[in-house]
Amino acid sequence: MRPVLVRVKDVLRVVELVTLPKRCCSSVPSGKEVRVRFAPSPTGFLHLGGLRTALYNYLFAKKHGGSFILRLEDTDRSRLVAGAAEGIENMLEWAGIPPDESPRQGGPYGPYEQSKRLDLYQVTADKLLESGAAYRCFCTPQRLELLKREALRNRQTPRYDNRCRHLTAKQVSEKLSKGSPYVIRFHLQEGAQPFQDLVYGWTHHDVASVEGDPVIIKGDGFPTYHLANVVDDHHMGVSHVLRGAEWLISTSKHLLIYQALDWQPPLYAHLPLLLNKDGTKLSKRQGDIFIEHYAQSGCLADALLDLITNCGSGFPENQMGRTLDTLVNQYDLGKTSTHSALLDLEKLPEFNRLHLARSIDGPETRAKLVVQLQAMLQDTYKGLELDEGHIERILLLRKGHLCRMTDLLSPEYSYLWIRPSISKQELQSLSREAAEIGALVVRVLKETCNDFTLENLNNELRSHLQQLKATKYSSAMKLLRKSLSGQEHGPSVAEMLMSLGPQESIIRLQNALSC
Ligand code: GLU
Repeated sequence: MRPVLVRVKDVLRVVELVTLPKRCCSSVPSGKEVRVRFAPSPTGFLHLGGLRTALYNYLFAKKHGGSFILRLEDTDRSRLVAGAAEGIENMLEWAGIPPDESPRQGGPYGPYEQSKRLDLYQVTADKLLESGAAYRCFCTPQRLELLKREALRNRQTPRYDNRCRHLTAKQVSEKLSKGSPYVIRFHLQEGAQPFQDLVYGWTHHDVASVEGDPVIIKGDGFPTYHLANVVDDHHMGVSHVLRGAEWLISTSKHLLIYQALDWQPPLYAHLPLLLNKDGTKLSKRQGDIFIEHYAQSGCLADALLDLITNCGSGFPENQMGRTLDTLVNQYDLGKTSTHSALLDLEKLPEFNRLHLARSIDGPETRAKLVVQLQAMLQDTYKGLELDEGHIERILLLRKGHLCRMTDLLSPEYSYLWIRPSISKQELQSLSREAAEIGALVVRVLKETCNDFTLENLNNELRSHLQQLKATKYSSAMKLLRKSLSGQEHGPSVAEMLMSLGPQESIIRLQNALSC
């Protein structure tokens, strides 16, 4: 017996989850079509934990030639957040793991929003009422509150006392004719059977011994999660449910509903929690767990997916630099450990640097980056039109150094995109030989055109400028840096010349130094 601490509503409860040998059955029975779903509630924006669940579903579907479904569980109307539903699908698309069937894509099993499937839940609830597996509960909120308070006072876990199970047909019809409000509850049978979770192994939780009968249809006619997810998984032909481990405790309840409806349940695989590196909970209050934050701050989707799969679950080994294709190839549900996965977000810049370098290397991915950077630059420096060749050269030069493309928007790099305006007097005050220095470097640039490398430029600059009579080498460098960029500090002059290219460098030197 393994006691597990579970948060049920606002009460911590220890339940006995028995887990026996792990995974002795194959995760995909032969001949079975794989259909998996990611089923978030649009009560907030997609966060790292949600993205990881979606990703594992996607990987499992693609690995087995199956379908990945996005279903929005929007039945708790009071908690809906405007724009969240759209945002979730946008972010799956951004991450490169778009669903095959979804509210936006449509599909043969739609609609994919639970709020548009109410009839289906009602028909199912009616069926359960008819067979006696469910019943109407007329208990008032006041009575339920009283039950709860009494339990807490006695240091017990609040649970519904199943009173309305025992109403006679006559009592029910009297209450109905009086128009008394009611909910529908599922009658939990004692003795729930153990089930085999594909990650946690054999699991047994006799839910009826610790919980009251759950509401399946609320007073407003909307279903609760427990009914809706069973009905939809069944009608959408879901073969495997891969979801967060926090739902492991609810699975026995779901299996009892399947049993009452005489439906074949899907296979379950519960995914261990994703936590911070120090084992603390990823908090939604920290802005940086939302995927939009990463998308907007120049993070590459591949880098984020690589990082969140690099912390221990579902792969033969931890490895850095996997692309989505590699993740699909290497994914193995059987390798999911039951330990929580610890996410080290401090490593993200390093992952991003690696994936950015890879994208810069590939001609097709590089072309996309050029378009993206062009748009970002136009946004930052309103109305700026830049030559794509220039942008491409900068990306190639910065490959391996750059952690995020957005770094190129910082003031330090502004000289790459806009010509500085510098007072000539100021420049001339740096050296009496300003015009000569300019002319000399223009000559160096013209002569090195065929061997335009950092090394060659450094050598040539040094050998020519060290011979100046009235200007120290370091002052000449200061003058050149200022002429090229308007900045006093920054990369070496040779690096600036390399980044700007000979033509643009010559224009800037001639403008600034009248040479
Ligand atoms: N709507 C539930 C959630 O947001 C889905 C749980 C499940 O996958 O069954 O976590």
